[in-house]
Amino acid sequence: MSTLRNTLVASVAAVGLNGCVYGYVNDASTGSAIQDVTVSVASGTCSGAGCATPSEKTDSSGLFVFDAYGDRNGADQVKIIMPASGEEAIRLLYSRAGYRSVNVYHKPKYEEVTQDGKDYLISGVQPVYLCALLAPDSDGDGICDAAESRYGTSATNSDTDGDSISDFAELYGYGGVDLRYYGANPKKKDVFVEMDYYPNLQPIQAALDRVTAAFANAPVSNPDGSTGIALHLVVDQQVAAADADMDLSPAWTDFDVIKAKYFASRRAPFFHYALIANQYNSGGSSGLSRGIPGHDFMVTLGNWSTPGGTEQQQAGTIMHELGHNIGLMHGGNENMNYKANYLSLMSYNYQLRGLTVDGTTGVLDYSRVRVASASEAAVSEISAFAPAGTTTEADLAHYGVRIGSSLRSGNASANLDFNGNGVIQAAPLAQDLNNDGDTSDIINASQNDWTALVYHGASTIGDPYLGDTESLMRMQPFLVAPEKTEQCITEHEHRGPKK
Ligand SMILES: [Zn+2]
Repeated sequence: MSTLRNTLVASVAAVGLNGCVYGYVNDASTGSAIQDVTVSVASGTCSGAGCATPSEKTDSSGLFVFDAYGDRNGADQVKIIMPASGEEAIRLLYSRAGYRSVNVYHKPKYEEVTQDGKDYLISGVQPVYLCALLAPDSDGDGICDAAESRYGTSATNSDTDGDSISDFAELYGYGGVDLRYYGANPKKKDVFVEMDYYPNLQPIQAALDRVTAAFANAPVSNPDGSTGIALHLVVDQQVAAADADMDLSPAWTDFDVIKAKYFASRRAPFFHYALIANQYNSGGSSGLSRGIPGHDFMVTLGNWSTPGGTEQQQAGTIMHELGHNIGLMHGGNENMNYKANYLSLMSYNYQLRGLTVDGTTGVLDYSRVRVASASEAAVSEISAFAPAGTTTEADLAHYGVRIGSSLRSGNASANLDFNGNGVIQAAPLAQDLNNDGDTSDIINASQNDWTALVYHGASTIGDPYLGDTESLMRMQPFLVAPEKTEQCITEHEHRGPKK
């Protein structure tokens, strides 16, 4: 048997996939294992002696196994299943009399286990709770109330975590995509981004890790009791040199040529698409978002002093453009840029340098505080800015403040040297707070960005299993039409304050 297994492992290794695919099936109502559920390969290829019947049946513990090793059902029943050509996941159809059938997409993710001295590669399918034919499904998301109770998801909200992707899709996958493979959790907000990159412009992993960490650290609470947003930056592939248009112009027309070739349309209901390219429209802009909110963005640091950008520039620009995709403008909830009372990577004051928090520079974050409105005609260097909403002076005291590009001494709460003359003066002074060259504006209070995020990508992200409760939310129009979106910061702007 061991020789057979080794032969099989060698043969399947040659096609790049090996091991067992297994899962458990239970009754949603009782929670008990169901025997004799037929699990068929509805989409995928099966190789091995047992493929005459490309299905498995569950045993008394609700377990089914597509076995590449011949250990379970015998050497004549070996079944190795893998995604069909052009697909990324297997579709398994679960059926049994008296129950509703379920399709589950599974992209194998093998782990090695050792049992009885032998090594196996196994990939577990999401446990499935089958629903009786007439079981109620209050939110219409394709998962009956009894099964929602087992999963801990809401029976009355098809999108328990509010990330615009239904509980169904997060649990079982949808349309050829296994979201669980990429880390989806129906009880925690997930944001998925596919990234492709030009030759020599592969994003630095440390930059991606920092953006992911910034989202994980977000002050956003989830139904599973955790805080933070699970950002899944899926670096997919390098664009071939022949396809790498070095000046995307017109930007979105040329972007679409590459997207059509490199982005699988099955991912469109779930993934933002990001292209790490050279430049667009013959300019030096760092990047561009297709609408606010939206689902496409590009990062274009190819012609910058450090080609492709430094780690800080990459991380800041990816997070900035993604921020536009999830509904943030340069002033948070308004287009005004450089607002001195808006402490966010969405402001050009911070996109490329990061925020300064407790003296540490380069911090990646959207605004998590609210700062009161301020009048340019009279600011106080002693009292600096005032908090708004639930933000406190103590919260503001953590933040350094940039006026244009220059970090001032003091902090957002007190002793802030607005004009940078080295003196904290007692008398009110006039100060330009939005880099427009005058001192006559009232600068609006700023928002907490993290609680204002929009997850539906301009009504494109989300699947049909959102059901009734979420359909209106998905109909929200663009806040800003894509063609009106402001291009993002240029290196020239980055190098010095606007004159
Ligand atoms: Zn921008």
